[in-house]
Amino acid sequence: MKKNIVIIGTGGTIAGKASSATETLHYTSAILSVNSLIHEIPEIHKIVHVTGEQLSQIDSCDMTCGIWLQLAARVNELLASNKVDGIVITHGTDTLEETAYFLNLVIQSQKPVVLVGAMRPVTAMSADGPMNLYNAVTLAANDKSIGKGVLVALNDTVNCSREVTKTNTMLQDSFQAPDLGYLGYIQGGIPYFYRLPARRHTLCSEFDCRGITDLPKVEIIYGYVDSSPIIAEAAVKAGAKGLIYAGLGNGNMSQDIRKGLINIEKQGVVIVRSTRVSSGIVTRNGAVHDDEYHFVVSDTLSPQKARILLMLALLTTNDPVEIQRMFWEY
Ligand code: ASP
Repeated sequence: MKKNIVIIGTGGTIAGKASSATETLHYTSAILSVNSLIHEIPEIHKIVHVTGEQLSQIDSCDMTCGIWLQLAARVNELLASNKVDGIVITHGTDTLEETAYFLNLVIQSQKPVVLVGAMRPVTAMSADGPMNLYNAVTLAANDKSIGKGVLVALNDTVNCSREVTKTNTMLQDSFQAPDLGYLGYIQGGIPYFYRLPARRHTLCSEFDCRGITDLPKVEIIYGYVDSSPIIAEAAVKAGAKGLIYAGLGNGNMSQDIRKGLINIEKQGVVIVRSTRVSSGIVTRNGAVHDDEYHFVVSDTLSPQKARILLMLALLTTNDPVEIQRMFWEY
């Protein structure tokens, strides 16, 4: 029996248009409606019942926590219906990994949710969007995708939302999980899984954003030679309840930054040590005495994903011990 898949459009290059077929770099994102994208892949009707819904029409650089909350509410509502078997979300690639990880933590269903984007606009010669969308729909319609958390499908690969990242500004194989690897591939409309997400997600997640209209403010501070705490202090002045420090090496910091962050933590702001390095675990109590300073470490989460987990954690607690537990589990 054919599955019922809803495709939610949010914008991005997958819905973008340029002035000619050879133009792949100068174009406008978020022009075509989700129904036009579905129209481009008539083959899809042979395998699923598909309906389109437009939630936003933006370049994903303009994604906001407000839109995330609306998207999560709509996905949860659709998946609660026995008339919907899975969801595909079309999205710009710049922040796709963030939206995917956010949904991975707040969707209360085992049913497949797949995010998809494209590196080339629809008008480009050899556009990647139509095949990526076709693959994403086949992934969302496949029973093997049930219970695997929110997935990301681009360039014939299946990725875990916790680990996937955009690795290249323009190439079509930009979406990878360089640290821990793809979950699998899609070939001939069939997903092949080789690994499973090991961390808590979706139905096993403790995060619930129903009824929430905004998320606590968390800013990211970048580590570099001779950096000072002024940006961190300005962020706190502007209302940040948590800071992610994208540190040097193993989340390391200069003495100057350390003093600044210790002082900020004493004001009740949660400090998470992440890293600007693209892979590896940030070691708790390594070169930095996290127990003594009440810092949290991000495990292997990138700074932008650590920010999402911290925002959700801060909805219920600002206790660094409890928040550290969450970083080990999600
Ligand atoms: N700026 C675009 C966006 O994120 C890039 C893309 O979709 O590839 O919406």
